[in-house]
Amino acid sequence: MSLTRDDIRAIYDLPFPELIRRAMEVHRAHHDPLQVQLCQLENIKSGRCPEDCAYCAQSAHHDVEIEEYGLEQVEEVHDAARRARESGATRLCMGAAWRGPRNRKEFETVLEMVRRVRGEGLEACVTLGMLTSEQAQELAEAGLTAYNHNLDTSPEHYAKIIHTHTFEDRLETIGHVRAAGISLCCGGIVGMGETREDRIGLLHALVSLDPPPESVPINRLVPIPGTPLADAEPLDPIELVRCIATARILMPLSRVRLSAGRQGMTRELQALCFVAGANSIFTGDRLLTTPNPGEGDQGLLASLGLRGETEQEAAEERARLGMR
Ligand code: SF4
Repeated sequence: MSLTRDDIRAIYDLPFPELIRRAMEVHRAHHDPLQVQLCQLENIKSGRCPEDCAYCAQSAHHDVEIEEYGLEQVEEVHDAARRARESGATRLCMGAAWRGPRNRKEFETVLEMVRRVRGEGLEACVTLGMLTSEQAQELAEAGLTAYNHNLDTSPEHYAKIIHTHTFEDRLETIGHVRAAGISLCCGGIVGMGETREDRIGLLHALVSLDPPPESVPINRLVPIPGTPLADAEPLDPIELVRCIATARILMPLSRVRLSAGRQGMTRELQALCFVAGANSIFTGDRLLTTPNPGEGDQGLLASLGLRGETEQEAAEERARLGMR
């Protein structure tokens, strides 16, 4: 189904109670609304990234003090996978602050990490920057479940946020990932000074990927001192909920992940996001370089009567979506 921006705007701009009602109906029709996918994120290579993404503490272009390190050892990641599994996560996401994998030995290390994570019974997702079609193929052969490559914002706003690669570069890597048969994790960040029209443009770009991403992370900017977006105007929380509800309606089968920025959200706002169709979160107390609620999540989910997806349910979901 091909949707225009006007179609998406008509949903996004609905009166709020109507928007939430429609999102809830879609959510119930395609998912267990009490089930939340729990993902753990491991920063496998930190900092000194040659890209200049304006929101990111890991860019070598910005003056931010963070812990920097080279590619982790396979054993460290294997331990992280065991811990993630014990804590109830069903997916380990591994992020490397690279423009793309350049070093053959390091890329082979990542392939081994993917095999180990799958060997623990977890889904494996990596985000490594731009890929060649051959690299995507090798990741697929290693058993990778999903590749994360966010579109971040609308095509028009993209060049105001990132100058070292283009929106089209992102689409090219996404094409390689799809061609290799890897499922796609692709979303964006709201609160980066974009307009509502830009948020609609991002949702339009996501739903126009054919098929839409199986996993759609919606992040709220965490402004980091030393980055160009340190003083970005905070986004009206209702806009975040509108984004989530619209994503849920547009991409009924996808996991919509309430991602970065939860540490700065009230429990009530997070609850509203779950009601609007979010059904995935990152667990743990760090998200790359920013804080995350950590153990507080158990209490939050319990107070709302929600529960983490089990391994069995994750396997059923993969089968339903034709994923590895
Ligand atoms: S978002 Fe990723 S590609 Fe961009 S600067 Fe940060 S680590 Fe590098």
